[in-house]
Amino acid sequence: MSMQTSVCVVGGGPAGLTLAVELARRSVPVVVLEASGHFNRSFRGESVSPDSVWLLDRLGLLDRLDGSYVQMHRMEIDDSGHTVFRAEFADFRYPHPFPVELPQPTLLAALAETGAGHPGFRLLQGATATGLLYDGEGAVAGVRARTPDGETEIRASLTVAADGRFSKVRDMAGLAYRKVPLERDVIWLKLPFPYDAWDDRTYRVRIRGDQHGLFIPTRPDSVRVGFNIPKGGLREMRGQGLPALYERLDLLAPELSATVREQVRSWSDTSMLDIFTTVVPRWSAPGLALIGDAAHTLTPILGQGVNHAIIDAVTLAPRVAAAFSDDGGSTASLLAAAEAFQRSREGSVARSRALQLRQERLFTLDGAMGSAWRRTLYRVVSSSPRLTRRVLAGAYFQVQRPGERVAKVQAAL
Ligand SMILES: Cc1cc2nc3c(=O)[nH]c(=O)nc-3n(C[C@H](O)[C@H](O)[C@H](O)COP(=O)(O)OP(=O)(O)OC[C@H]3O[C@@H](n4cnc5c(N)ncnc54)[C@H](O)[C@@H]3O)c2cc1C
Repeated sequence: MSMQTSVCVVGGGPAGLTLAVELARRSVPVVVLEASGHFNRSFRGESVSPDSVWLLDRLGLLDRLDGSYVQMHRMEIDDSGHTVFRAEFADFRYPHPFPVELPQPTLLAALAETGAGHPGFRLLQGATATGLLYDGEGAVAGVRARTPDGETEIRASLTVAADGRFSKVRDMAGLAYRKVPLERDVIWLKLPFPYDAWDDRTYRVRIRGDQHGLFIPTRPDSVRVGFNIPKGGLREMRGQGLPALYERLDLLAPELSATVREQVRSWSDTSMLDIFTTVVPRWSAPGLALIGDAAHTLTPILGQGVNHAIIDAVTLAPRVAAAFSDDGGSTASLLAAAEAFQRSREGSVARSRALQLRQERLFTLDGAMGSAWRRTLYRVVSSSPRLTRRVLAGAYFQVQRPGERVAKVQAAL
């Protein structure tokens, strides 16, 4: 079996599906290959930045997602038992000032449903790209794939690698990249939400010495907990047994001491995220473009992965559609579109990466001097709305302009 289409997207995550919807909406035929047979991923990006909420609203998806997400109202950082930073998102005069917590399976299902409403959209689930096809000039001309119906070839004028942080398409195309490991990894787990102790509209960051934990309210009735361990330290921690994990949480969030002992009975109740960021100098080659994590893996700080995945998609789609309407989608015009896309996006990605790395460095400061410096810095930023806005703008407000239409979600508060 083989297929012919204009664009073949490898990976049906937030980046790939948003791109496919945006192309199909512009009447560009698109086939999405998704290796998994379902959208039920656990422990994936669920924090969606205000900019992406604004984009989802503009794409007409927010209404479809009504009731599936929770707006977050503030962020609080507590260092050694003292609140050193608090930001109230309502203070930011943007159309959508609030990040939301939205289960990724719900977002992906809504995107797939929206795509299915356009005749040119095709999603193949359980289909894995296994190799690249090339034309006589050496340009990528589609992929070979393993599907539930057997091996197939999908020929396309443009292939898009939206296959995530371990992108195989990027490897197959020989595009160089640099993986920058951070000093620590993160263990994630989910617990019932402690409503008696916490409100469920606050992102909490707790720091003690060089240890920190993220506590993110999650639907339904849960809190996602992420806390750092030394790079590659999982084996050592496992060797110490689950009590070591319980004690780590006792230190950061005693409110969760009882529930963690009830709920986490084996290491399979946790998952480990290898924290690294990837710098890819070229996001394209003839016939190929990279988007989302495949082009720029970020760290979990301030939930930026889904955000940049969605912004990439809405930035690339009109350029690709224009290349098809200009000259039918020649290799040269599609390459120019992909290069222009990278130029317009890489500054914003670099700003988010720099903010994340600065934040990570602050988290790892230890000793009396280091901790005192960190607390002072957070307090100074927290005391100035202008500084707080400037710091958070690098992650939350790169696309929206202040003072635009006040969000209906905000008006409804
Ligand atoms: C534990 C964890 C927690 C996170 N928390 C957050 C958060 O709170 N907020 C946030 O913004 N980000 C978070 N992230 C990051 C976020 O999930 C990613 O940045 C985001 O999903 C990137 O979207 P993407 O579409 O580029 O890639 P992905 O979401 O990784 O999607 C890639 C898709 O490609 C498919 N695929 C891979 N190879 C092939 C192939 N050969 N053929 C076909 N399909 C293939 C995969 O099955 C996958 O569905 C988290 C990540 C992890 C791992």
